[in-house]
Amino acid sequence: MIRIITRFALMFAMLSATPTLAHESTAAAPGWSLAIHGGAGTMDPDRMTAQQQAEYKAALQAALDAGVAVLRGGGSAIEAVQAAIVLMEDDPKFNAGRGAVFTWEGANELDAAVMDGRDRSAGAVTGVSRVRHPILLADAVRQDGRHVFLSGAGAEEFAGDKGLETMPPEWFATEARREALERLKANKLSALDVDHKFGTVGAVALDSQGHLAAGTSTGGLTGKRWGRIGDAPMIGAGTYADDRVCAVSATGAGEYFIRVGVAHEICARMRLGGDSPQSAADAVMAEVKELGGDGGVIVVTPSGEAVFSFNTTGMYRGRAASTGLNEVAIFEN
Ligand code: ASP
Repeated sequence: MIRIITRFALMFAMLSATPTLAHESTAAAPGWSLAIHGGAGTMDPDRMTAQQQAEYKAALQAALDAGVAVLRGGGSAIEAVQAAIVLMEDDPKFNAGRGAVFTWEGANELDAAVMDGRDRSAGAVTGVSRVRHPILLADAVRQDGRHVFLSGAGAEEFAGDKGLETMPPEWFATEARREALERLKANKLSALDVDHKFGTVGAVALDSQGHLAAGTSTGGLTGKRWGRIGDAPMIGAGTYADDRVCAVSATGAGEYFIRVGVAHEICARMRLGGDSPQSAADAVMAEVKELGGDGGVIVVTPSGEAVFSFNTTGMYRGRAASTGLNEVAIFEN
């Protein structure tokens, strides 16, 4: 009762406020927030030239700007995450779309997923090798709504039906990634040893209508075999969004992220346990580490908090919000 009276008193005070105050309250437009990543890993300022650092930062800033433009224009979170990701898919510096890592057999097989926090509609694809923007294909699956997860030839056929842009498989291949596969084979290295970092890309957003979305796109791990699928396209592992609590995109050693159910686990800790986004993300990343996995996550909440958590020495990352926050970073601090 007291609470109801207080609320009425508050409403009355707001209604009878001076025009200036009323104007101020409308001017405080609902906030938006965006976070992106381009992979986590062993990143050492001494191992990257100033030029390389600047190039990565510029690429992150361009992706961030593309997502921000959508949100600032009143666009939806699901559109913003795709706008940020398509740029990184085209950029050979990242392990997604063009510049994806090679499978053991010497092919580029792409995975992607998106999820809309409004209705938890989701779309995911794995093992595609001709679709220029796997993230757009994942969203076409989501919008179609009959299925959530498509693979290989079927996913390519669906892309054709939807008129999505395709490229010859060679378009995705880069010399640096081919050379990484050769080194992995010659020296019997693991995917992380050969790359020192995971280059998956992802984005999470809150739009000014209060809706959340998440998206992730990747070539997976260098030398992956037998149709291996990582966490990125698995809803709940590498990608998850729920308007009630958070949106998450992950990067790292996918097998561990699948076993922990990382993205959903972070949201569950927040929703059921009342954890803050940072403590939920840190706790879940600690679990990944305990099992032997490396990587990181980005998280955005309905109140616009954008947090990073990674158990590696760096993560290509960026965040921006309607509060004026705008930053990109690579190394730990
Ligand atoms: N998580 C991705 C996978 O395991 C790899 C990455 O993050 O780069 O497929």
